[in-house]
Amino acid sequence: MPEVLEVESYRQLAETVVGARVTSGFADPYAAKMLPSSATWEQAVAGRRLISTGRRGKLMWIDTDGPRLGWRFGMTGVLLVDSLAGIEGLFYGPHTFRDEWIRAGLVLDDGRRVLLHDPRRLARVLVDPSLDELGPDVMSMTRREFDHVLEVDRGEGPALKARLLDQNRLAGVGNLLADETLFRAGVDPRTPVAHLDTDSRNRVWRSLRATLRTLERRGGSHTGDHMVARGPGGRCPRDGGEMRIDTIGGRTTYWCPVHQT
Ligand SMILES: [Zn+2]
Repeated sequence: MPEVLEVESYRQLAETVVGARVTSGFADPYAAKMLPSSATWEQAVAGRRLISTGRRGKLMWIDTDGPRLGWRFGMTGVLLVDSLAGIEGLFYGPHTFRDEWIRAGLVLDDGRRVLLHDPRRLARVLVDPSLDELGPDVMSMTRREFDHVLEVDRGEGPALKARLLDQNRLAGVGNLLADETLFRAGVDPRTPVAHLDTDSRNRVWRSLRATLRTLERRGGSHTGDHMVARGPGGRCPRDGGEMRIDTIGGRTTYWCPVHQT
């Protein structure tokens, strides 16, 4: 699934088409599901010049001399410029691109095309997407913003992992990034947020920063240290402990009860 690192790579790819003008656009009914119709997209993009790109969490956009064009990638979405993928190795299955999986796109006046490729049909194009529901972006947030993410209004609050996945609080953390961050921090993902002591908060903060840098360098959110243990009977690569599998924040969670305490 594309997480923030993958979407950032798509944004960087989209930077290569800044300055071009859109001749025409297209979107199938799946990609256009958040819009009144496919025609909304076609009309929004036609004749527009692409000015700049942006991203918050897993929402990417291209600003134009008209509306802001938003892109959400769902489970399997990839942005392509012509046939150049934003990141290699994203797919669970074979690395094949098929024409019938191209759901939306822009045709540019220089002959290139910006394409949304998505076998699972959960990716969406948006026109002037709202940012109101999104917390600060995880790749650029400050320590002060992170402390705000961990604030609890009353009671013990949700499980730490559930809070990290809450896009209203913090935009961009997906399931793999959350598990890897807490694996590296040595913190139990079930810990109620209000029970985190200062040391644990510091470790999660530092781990999140380091995990983003490391996985970006390695090539994506599927390159974490704990991935080898992400399966039935998996053992912790640090201490050999038997990994636990729990559902936390609605997502399947792999964690090590030996060193994540
Ligand atoms: Zn362990």
